[in-house]
Amino acid sequence: MSTTVEAASARRLSLRIDGWEGHLAGQHVDVRLTAPDGYQAQRSYSIASAPESPTVDLVVQRVADGEVSPYLVDELRVGDELELRGPIGGYFVWHPDVDSPLQLVAGGSGVAPFLAVLDHHAAIRSSVPVRLLCSARTLDDVIGAERLEGHADRGVAVTIALTRGAPPGWTGLRGRVEPATIRQHTLPVEQQPRILVCGPTTFVEAVADGLVDDGHPPAAIKIERFG
Ligand SMILES: Cc1cc2nc3c(=O)[nH]c(=O)nc-3n(C[C@H](O)[C@H](O)[C@H](O)COP(=O)(O)OP(=O)(O)OC[C@H]3O[C@@H](n4cnc5c(N)ncnc54)[C@H](O)[C@@H]3O)c2cc1C
Repeated sequence: MSTTVEAASARRLSLRIDGWEGHLAGQHVDVRLTAPDGYQAQRSYSIASAPESPTVDLVVQRVADGEVSPYLVDELRVGDELELRGPIGGYFVWHPDVDSPLQLVAGGSGVAPFLAVLDHHAAIRSSVPVRLLCSARTLDDVIGAERLEGHADRGVAVTIALTRGAPPGWTGLRGRVEPATIRQHTLPVEQQPRILVCGPTTFVEAVADGLVDDGHPPAAIKIERFG
């Protein structure tokens, strides 16, 4: 295992797993921790690396007062043991064999599975148009910022909305993702995009409602709630 800082409050855990049989972009794993006294806690984490990656990467954002995430972000050390189950989930995945354009909408750590989707899109040189609308508190909180820049450089339309203040000269969006933001900064209904929305429950539900109000068919929208 190796770890990298991904954002102000997030860490990427890159795991080499013997016998890993591969995953699809969008799937997650369950991580179980066991304390010396036998107490166990389990949480789900999206796989943030492409199926082509030699490592299975998770990007964990510290939730203040959380039980598991502060440990994974601040305390986990190389050599510590993690119990992993997965890959899990066949619904919230991107299948590159369909030509429809792809719209991704992420709130906070909800961008994690989309890092896998975008890396996969790049690895297979997919010509499917992709657009990402990503909300974060500040620029320092944007998870995978460098990777997102790289994807923007190769033609992915990346829009970042900062909810709690932007640095001087910021040309992206400011404020929460409102219905008007969704309308202006996502693929239009006429393009019949497939849409993946991921993040905290309230964010995901508000975005999905906005997309349906704009005329996107509910069947085209898949959501993943992070709780
Ligand atoms: C399918 C799936 C995939 C997930 N993938 C990721 C991922 O890739 N990266 C990641 O960081 N997290 C991800 N999560 C969330 C993760 O499972 C944990 O919920 C999160 O790490 C918090 O756990 P905790 O033990 O620190 O907090 P807890 O002790 O469980 O919760 C503490 C408090 O924080 C609230 N809370 C829990 N999660 C969040 C959140 N995301 N945002 C705001 N408040 C929250 C709880 O309601 C509670 O009030 C995913 C969840 C699901 C269901």
